[in-house]
Amino acid sequence: MPRIRKLKLHGFKSFAKKTVITFPANYSVICGANGSGKSNVLDAVCFVLGRISAKSLRADRMKEVIYHGWKNKKPSEFAEVSITFDNSDGIFPVDDKEVVVSRRINRKGISIYKLNGKTVTREKVLEILGKAGIRPDGYNIILQGDVTDIIEMSPLERRTIIDEISGISEYEEKRKKAERELSTVEERLKEVRIRLNERFTVLEKLRQEAEAAERYQKLSKELEVLRASLAKIRLEEADESMKKLVEKLDELEKEGEKIETEFSRAESELDEAEKKLRDFESKVFASVTSEKRKKAEKLKSDLISKKERLRFIAEEKSRLKNLIEKLSLIVRGENRVVREITSLGRTGVYGSVSSLITVPEKYRIAVEVAGGNHLNDIVVKNTDVALELINYLKSRKLGRATFLPLDKIKPRPESKAPEGSLGMLLDFVEFDEKYRPAISFVLGDTVLVEKIEDAKKIGIGKWRFVSLDGDLAEKSGAIIGGFYRPEKSFELSEISKYSKRIEELEEEEKNLRAEIVELEKNLPEPEEDFSDMEEERKKLVEEVEKKRKIRRELYEKRTIIQSNINRLRIQKARLEAELENLKLEFRNYQQTETVKMEPEVMENRISQILSELRDLGPVNMKAVEEYKLLKKDYDELKKKVEKLEDERERILELMMDIERKRRNVFMETLRAVSEQFKKVFRDLTGGEAELRLEDPESLESGLIIEASPKGKKLMNIDAMSGGEKTLTALAFLFALQRFRPAPFYILDEVDAALDKANTKKINELIKKYSEESQFIVISHNDTTIQSADCVFGVTMEEGESKIVGIKMP
Ligand code: ATP
Ligand code: MG
Repeated sequence: MPRIRKLKLHGFKSFAKKTVITFPANYSVICGANGSGKSNVLDAVCFVLGRISAKSLRADRMKEVIYHGWKNKKPSEFAEVSITFDNSDGIFPVDDKEVVVSRRINRKGISIYKLNGKTVTREKVLEILGKAGIRPDGYNIILQGDVTDIIEMSPLERRTIIDEISGISEYEEKRKKAERELSTVEERLKEVRIRLNERFTVLEKLRQEAEAAERYQKLSKELEVLRASLAKIRLEEADESMKKLVEKLDELEKEGEKIETEFSRAESELDEAEKKLRDFESKVFASVTSEKRKKAEKLKSDLISKKERLRFIAEEKSRLKNLIEKLSLIVRGENRVVREITSLGRTGVYGSVSSLITVPEKYRIAVEVAGGNHLNDIVVKNTDVALELINYLKSRKLGRATFLPLDKIKPRPESKAPEGSLGMLLDFVEFDEKYRPAISFVLGDTVLVEKIEDAKKIGIGKWRFVSLDGDLAEKSGAIIGGFYRPEKSFELSEISKYSKRIEELEEEEKNLRAEIVELEKNLPEPEEDFSDMEEERKKLVEEVEKKRKIRRELYEKRTIIQSNINRLRIQKARLEAELENLKLEFRNYQQTETVKMEPEVMENRISQILSELRDLGPVNMKAVEEYKLLKKDYDELKKKVEKLEDERERILELMMDIERKRRNVFMETLRAVSEQFKKVFRDLTGGEAELRLEDPESLESGLIIEASPKGKKLMNIDAMSGGEKTLTALAFLFALQRFRPAPFYILDEVDAALDKANTKKINELIKKYSEESQFIVISHNDTTIQSADCVFGVTMEEGESKIVGIKMP
């Protein structure tokens, strides 16, 4: 073991002059009077070992360790101490057999360390000394009062000695660092979790919206397929009906042609028979009768043929009227709801506006344009009827209609047509006065003009104008116009053709009646007959009658066929329109696939889908995309949370690991020191001793020192007598030294409070230990002095300490 061979002091504290102490043996005692400078020697050792706390060197400032002079003696310029260590066993990592460590401090407080004459840093000195287990603050140096300090310490303070000696402060540092990391991670985690929660709420809402959007798309797709399939079936059906209709019409038309030929033949045969009769009569009567009679006969025959013509006209008129009736049914019955309502036959329902008015052909377009959809409005008696019908439509899901109740509807104020116009449109329409409020409501404020340019002259905006060719100028200034195609042109042109014909027939009828009245007036009284001629005439008359009958029968047949042909033509026209509509509708679905299903099943499903779509309400179609984006964001954030949680876990584990190690190191140190303490105390007194924690589980609890001095039972150090306390505390300090062995030990007056017997025990122990290590003991105690291998005396003369002699016992 390296030991202190030589200690050299110069200008250090009371050692003004260069003083050298050589330690020849392992157990040296330094003695001397109070204040002679014994403790200063110990301070010198601490100084050179690198203590930097001035306090522990019993100085306010480091430079105060320099000799400060006495009376007329000058203070020293510096203080210098050097220790010569033995390095024969090469414990210090230097080549020399001796290691000289020195430290010098000047008045400015500047310290210089030297190692074997070379200036080195303090760190270098500590490193070299450390190799030999020498530390500047080691427990191998027990200062004067250290024992008392231990006695006066609280259990918690005593425990810090174990903390320090075990070196767990290293773990303390690590733990603090980990705690800082933990709080950073936890803060981040909290922050990210809040963000995650916020996103979750939004995400959840979006997810639902996205689901709705997807459902909407699916349903819409299905709806389109069904509608396309339905349209396809309807189209095929209509095509089929059309084919059948055309066939039937062809057949009927052929038949019509045949009847036509037969009819014209019958007509010419009748003409012939009539001519024969007339010829016979004129031949017979020309010869035999007076002029008067001849005239009478002529009148009679005229009368007969005119009456015949009248009867024909009546028949033709009724046929035409019948046709017109059917056609106008189609024209105004196009609106299904109106037809439905009017066909109910309910009283108080008068019919659609269009059915209640008669419009001369010339004004028809103007009325259609001006009336617009209102022509389909249904005129009813009063509001009750209207409400009842609305409920009827609703309950049967038939559709919608506008009702004009006569008790409530207000006619538009009558006004005089402006100059330059043809007049108020209303005045060109015929209707029952009863309906005036409704008709006036629909057409009342419209002015009829020849051309829309006339409206411009009169002033567009002042009135509502309609032109004969169907251009419309609203009061608002809006002008609607262009080529107007009458909606039911086919039917309407038929109707007008028939009406004209009726008018002609009526004119003819009127004339005929007048002529007949005139003829009958001139008819003379019947005279005696000409029976001989009568026979022949009768035959001819009968022939005429027969031919007439044939003609009439054929005529009726022809009428029926014509009426049938007409009916089919109308049907065909309607079907054509329907077919056109269906084709248009189907064109929308050309890209769509179709399925084969019962039309009824498809219709049910369509209404189901529509109701579901209605229930879905407005759908956010962007939701699917938005959801995907946000989900990605959310997942990333979630990953971040997981990563942070892992990090947190890792730090917690690390902390636990640190704590475990700290505990292990502490407990191991405590156990080892306690072991030494037991041994030392037993060696000193033969008694038992123990170190333990107040709370065995807590490293934060106090350290209990217990011992049984003089065979007493185990007791706490605080409960002992002064001497017992000293002995026990000393044993504790020795135990610390045993735990961390050093090459030398310096003890300053540790025996001060001990009785002779105990001093002896201590001396014996030191003696035993000094076989292995060097002991320098400062003491006044004779017993101690006597037990040493060598003794140095310290004296103080005129403020200067001197080593006065070596006494070898
Ligand atoms: P005790 O037996 O009472 O413990 P001691 O022998 O240990 O006494 P020290 O404490 O070593 O005595 O010496 C104290 C003396 O050293 C004091 O008298 C003090 O005046 C003197 N002293 C301390 N510092 C200086 C200094 N810088 N210059 C000169 N003398 C000093
Ligand atoms: Mg002292």
